[in-house]
Parts: sequence; structure tokens; C-alpha cells
Amino acid sequence: MATVHLDNVTRCFGSTVAVDQLSLEVIDRELLVLLGPSGCGKSTTLRMIAGLEEIDEGTISIDGKPVNNLAPRDRDIAMVFQNYALYPHMTVQQNISFPLRMRRAGRDDIQRRVHEAAEILGILELLDRTPSQLSGGQQQRVALGRAMVRDPAVFLLDEPLSNLDMQLRSTMRQEILDLHRRLQVTMIHVTHDQVEAMTLGDRVAIMHEGRLQQLGTPEDVYDRPANRFVAGFLGNPPMNFLSPDGAWAAGLPGDLELGFRPEQVKASDLQGVSRSDLTTSEDTDHLTFPCQLVSIQQLGAESLVTLQVGEQQFIMRTGERQLPDPDSSLVVSVPTSSVHKFSSGTGKRLGMLHNTPANQADSP
Ligand code: ATP
Repeated sequence: MATVHLDNVTRCFGSTVAVDQLSLEVIDRELLVLLGPSGCGKSTTLRMIAGLEEIDEGTISIDGKPVNNLAPRDRDIAMVFQNYALYPHMTVQQNISFPLRMRRAGRDDIQRRVHEAAEILGILELLDRTPSQLSGGQQQRVALGRAMVRDPAVFLLDEPLSNLDMQLRSTMRQEILDLHRRLQVTMIHVTHDQVEAMTLGDRVAIMHEGRLQQLGTPEDVYDRPANRFVAGFLGNPPMNFLSPDGAWAAGLPGDLELGFRPEQVKASDLQGVSRSDLTTSEDTDHLTFPCQLVSIQQLGAESLVTLQVGEQQFIMRTGERQLPDPDSSLVVSVPTSSVHKFSSGTGKRLGMLHNTPANQADSP
């Protein structure tokens, strides 16, 4: 059992503020994902929790006890690194048992725990090999095994899947989820991959330039992004943003930016929507405007269509196969209950363009 609490934690390298007054509470036994672009301070945060990096300001507590001055080995945590950091001259058995041997655990105890971990990870038949005789995925399992035998209160995982190919990443994601369920332990997982974050995390903490942008369930951060950065980071492609200038935006307030997801855009003459459906009524439930088709990216099951209104471009995601040619004119429509408003100044999300009983809770 363990909670991890960061209270106003800051770490600087020269003039770079790698982590800036970060406050975060990791709940007992949850799988929390730290997500953000390269250089946002994720690894530094994890290394401070592990005790591998100094803390300039603030306090880190594990289970309510400040650990700022505790050596890594006294923190009851285990860390799995991106590069696995296996000992090349040791066998799998020796690598996994290493922390137990350092602790001078008994022979039988070591044997039992290594066997148990290797069985859970499906690497029993690899125990006599050395790391050079293993695939990337197998090496990653050994690194996880070495962390597991320590039976830590907190698992820290630093981009553990980034060296694996796409298919293996997907398999290992499932394995980490299973492992978390089985071990019932607090895990903090660092990644810059939003798919990994959304599929693994009980909650996701999104960082940018050393600062926490939002902490919430995957659904929270996708449906109710705190600000423009989060909205533009999540989703592939991410949210569209349009400044309401030009005739199409008549009547809309000008001091904000509008954001909507590509899957919310519907176009005339596609998906069974006729042009008159979109253009006739004085419809406040939809934002409806004409635009030009710029280009189409076919992805197989669906297409990403780049559209242009005035000087601004945005993307529609559609499953429709019959699409007009580039340069065609289209009328598109987006439900106003799915259009987010962002402050042009601060980037903060201000709520939805149109509140309905269903999305009322989506406004801050
Ligand atoms: P990545 O996904 O690329 O690993 P990250 O989000 O984990 O990035 P950090 O490694 O925590 O980011 O780095 C945060 C910032 O601190 C970056 O600007 C980085 O260049 C800087 N930084 C990290 N470690 C050091 C160091 N030892 N010396 C100087 N600057 C550092």
C-alpha cells in the first residue's frame, strides 16, 4: 500500500526549470500516467520520486512520510527504465535475482520469487539466457521481473515500451495492465505516447514545460480538456481550433477560440446529410458554414479530410468512402454542444458554445 504526494516540487538545471511547482497526489494502488511532449519534465519528476534526482524545492512524500532525504534504496520503490538497464554478463535468473542477492535474501526465497515473477511474465524458459540472447520485449519482461521481486510499494516505469515495435507495444501494454491488476500496487508510468496513456492510466497527468496542465481520468482529459494545450495534445489528429473571424462566424464572440474534434464534423452530401438540412433553419444547435475541400488522407476504415474556411484549415474524420474532389465546396456542421470555447489570451477552456442538459457538467 502506498500513496505518493508531490507538494510544490521544483527542479532546475541552470536556467532551465525542468519541473515547476508540481503538486500531485497519486492514490494508493492506482496506475497514474505522466504524459507530455519531450522535455516537459516527466522523467525528472519520476527520478525525483525515485531519489535519483535532487529536489530544489517542495516535498515528496510516500505514504505520508517525506522522503526528500531518503536514499533510493530506502524508499521502497522499484524503477523500470526505457533502456532496461540489464546486466549484460548476467543470465536472466541472475538479473532478476540481483536485488534479492543484494539484500542477502535466503536461497530458497530467491528461487521462489524469481520463479514466481518469471512465471507471471512468461519467461521461465529464458532463465539461463543472457540479455543479448533476448528480443526487446523479452528484455523488457526481465526488467519488469527484476522490479517485481523486490515487492515494492511503488513501481516507477520510465517509457518502458518505447524501444519496442508497434505490435509488441500493444501486447506489453496489456501485460502491464494485467500486472497492475495482479500486483495491486501503486504505479507511475511515464510516456509521451497518448495512446499508451489513455489505455493504461486510471488517471493521466498531462505536463507541459515543467508544469501540470491537467490531472484526470482519460475520459476527463479528452472530453473536458482544461486548456488549449491539453486539447491540442490529445487525439490523433488533435482538436481543431478556429478563430471566429469572417462571415461564417457572424454573431459569435470574437475574443475566443473555438475547438472541436475531427469526429464531430459532418458534411453536406455525405453521411446521409443533405445540404438543405444544414443550411436552412436558424439552427442554434449547430455551427454550420461553407468551406473548401483541400485534401484527403485515406486511412483505410476512415479518412481525414482537410477543409478550409477563410484562411483557416481544420480536419474532418469520416467513414464515408465517396468523397468529393479537392477544391470542391462543402457545407459542414458541428453540434454547438460539442464546440469548446477557449480564451484567446490564457488558453483556458471556458466551457461549451452551447450548454445542453447532457453537457452541462462539461463546463468548468
Ligand atoms: P523526454 O520525453 O524527452 O525524456 P521528459 O519530459 O522526460 O522528456 P526531462 O528529461 O524531465 O523531460 O527534462 C526536462 C527538461 O530538463 C528538459 O529541458 C531537459 O533538457 C532538462 N534536463 C533534464 N535533465 C537535465 C540535466 N541533467 N542537465 C541539464 N538539463 C537537464
